[in-house]
Amino acid sequence: MESPLQAWRDTLGELGVMGLIREPRAQAPPEAQATPEAQTRPAAAPTPANPPPARPQAARALPAAATPAAYTPPADPVGCPPPEVIAGATSLADLQKAIQGCLACPLGPGRLKFVFGEGHPKAQLMFVGEGPGRDEDLQGRPFVGKAGELLDKMIGALGLKREDTYIANVVKCRPPDNRTPSPTEARACMGYLHRQIELIQPAVIVTLGATPLRELVGVVEGITRVRGQWKRVQVGGREIPVMPTFHPAYVLRQYTQEVRRAVWEDLRAAKAWIDRPDQG
Ligand code: SF4
Repeated sequence: MESPLQAWRDTLGELGVMGLIREPRAQAPPEAQATPEAQTRPAAAPTPANPPPARPQAARALPAAATPAAYTPPADPVGCPPPEVIAGATSLADLQKAIQGCLACPLGPGRLKFVFGEGHPKAQLMFVGEGPGRDEDLQGRPFVGKAGELLDKMIGALGLKREDTYIANVVKCRPPDNRTPSPTEARACMGYLHRQIELIQPAVIVTLGATPLRELVGVVEGITRVRGQWKRVQVGGREIPVMPTFHPAYVLRQYTQEVRRAVWEDLRAAKAWIDRPDQG
């Protein structure tokens, strides 16, 4: 019978990161992380003496190709809950109940299922992706397709279970043809994600791909340039460290050892932040 250690080694081997495991490197100073050279380095584990750097003030630009179609939200207050209802939700279940009929943006009418997010209600590690795909739209759960399987394996390789973490997306409804949500759609949905984060209070957020990094954190630089570099986001009066990394779907498309190693290093850095001695 396969031992737990062997199963873990098998998972790492399947991910292509076996043999890449080594002691965390010393955290580069924030100044060094901002250099072009540093942008290509794998993420280093943060330490209490060397926390993630403050987020630079990146300009928020709207992608040219993201002009949303004209859409008039219905007046139904259940479909479009007012901000005080969202703020008044004191649990994730209450929040989901309040917003699951939302039609506040053009994505609402096209969904099969509302994909609220799932996981531990007080997870220390929270993942934020872009939006539901076909499988997620069918099942009403985030990251359940091939990309989700890969994410689950990586979470397992960190020594965690999927249900130890919380997984959500920028938008709760599937964009047609899996296109990137427009800034207008992302903004319409952002209050829900913010309230989820306020309720969960994660120690660290890992953004998966460029969209959550842009829409949640306000960083518009390319993900290949900024992945592995600590950012921060202010939500509900709390400043939360953010580790940007590639979306698992990108990893599946670019299944190179370099890409897999990059994601693995980013996830390890996030885990190291959670495991630091002064956490908790
Ligand atoms: S994507 Fe968000 S804002 Fe748009 S209809 Fe769905 S829940 Fe509402």
